[in-house]
Amino acid sequence: MPPLTDIAADTTDLAPRTNLLDLDRAGLAAWLGELGEKRFRADQLFKWMHQYGVDDFAAMNNLGKPLRARLQALAEVRGPQVVHDAHSRDGTRKWVLGLDGGSAVEMVYIPESDRGTLCVSSQVGCQLNCDFCSTAQQGFNRNLTVAEIVGQVWLASRLLAEEPGAPRSITNVVMMGMGEPLLNFDAVTSAMNIMRDDFAYGLSRRRITLSTAGVVPQIDRLYDASPVSLAVSLHAPDDALRDRLVPLNRRYPIAELLAACRRYVAHEPRMRITFEYALLAGVNDSPAQARALARLLRDVPSKINLIPFNPFPGASYETPTPAAVDRFRDLLLERGLVTVTRRTRGDDIDGACGQLVGRVLPRVNPRRAALAGRLPA
Ligand code: SAH
Repeated sequence: MPPLTDIAADTTDLAPRTNLLDLDRAGLAAWLGELGEKRFRADQLFKWMHQYGVDDFAAMNNLGKPLRARLQALAEVRGPQVVHDAHSRDGTRKWVLGLDGGSAVEMVYIPESDRGTLCVSSQVGCQLNCDFCSTAQQGFNRNLTVAEIVGQVWLASRLLAEEPGAPRSITNVVMMGMGEPLLNFDAVTSAMNIMRDDFAYGLSRRRITLSTAGVVPQIDRLYDASPVSLAVSLHAPDDALRDRLVPLNRRYPIAELLAACRRYVAHEPRMRITFEYALLAGVNDSPAQARALARLLRDVPSKINLIPFNPFPGASYETPTPAAVDRFRDLLLERGLVTVTRRTRGDDIDGACGQLVGRVLPRVNPRRAALAGRLPA
């Protein structure tokens, strides 16, 4: 029988390593505290990981050799794996990321002249079954962990830094990838707090936008957990149509959703909600619907983001003509609503969210979608 000390050493080796990307700075300080380390080490480690993108503890030369050795034994810095990488003619980059357990999500980087926006996923698949969304077709598999969410920012920063030419950076993050972020509340808010941390990515709350289909109780919890900008996927000016397009509306109808939006903007002066409205030809793009939308949003401080439908194979909707999109926008503008049409980006690389992952990996078991159809109260 080996001496006890060796057994102890063996068990440490076998214990799963703590992925430090899972921890916010306070959590990391507490974890280090348990090892008897000073809390300020968390600030140093955070900079190494998040600002310099370093995953090798041996390279963290201000930590001291003994601590580096302990970290190597107990911890790791492990982001998602790139399993597919697509470049669009317009500069948009799209990655399929492999996760533990064999599932995958998408991450998109959209460069513009004055900013670089990273679109981050929060779940593998989605439970909400919106009728016009390509992710819905994949069903729901699981929530992402903090490490998998903030790990997307971590990984994209590294990948962009490796690009030839003038390096692009991430100035904005939108939680608009696969999944419903408010149904993965704790991990998403914790990951966004790491994105906001000055020792990590230092993004201000205006530069992080969480998009939700309208999980009302979680909208009410969001500001205190992580005060970020809020976008709401509205897509219809009345409950009958919204019930069909966004089934979550049957649980939280428009009046309740807009009341939650008013409570959210009350946290700060001049705050506005971004309302996303996917324009579906002949379904929600009529002049009467534009007028109804304007009436609905009259007393909610808002911006409207019109998204011409992004088609995908098997979809039962069509994109309106540019003239119909402009007509809809103009009716809103005439009524004093701040309205922009979101330009389609990266459509040569499967622009609709969730489309590329479906092509690269076999579909998630569709039976799980049915199981996951139950929503939290
Ligand atoms: N679950 C979150 C994030 C989803 S994706 C939410 O519902 O807000 C971000 C936005 O893209 C949402 O407004 C979503 O409704 C919209 N969207 C999804 N599929 C689309 C498609 N095929 N064409 C246009 N917009 C789409």
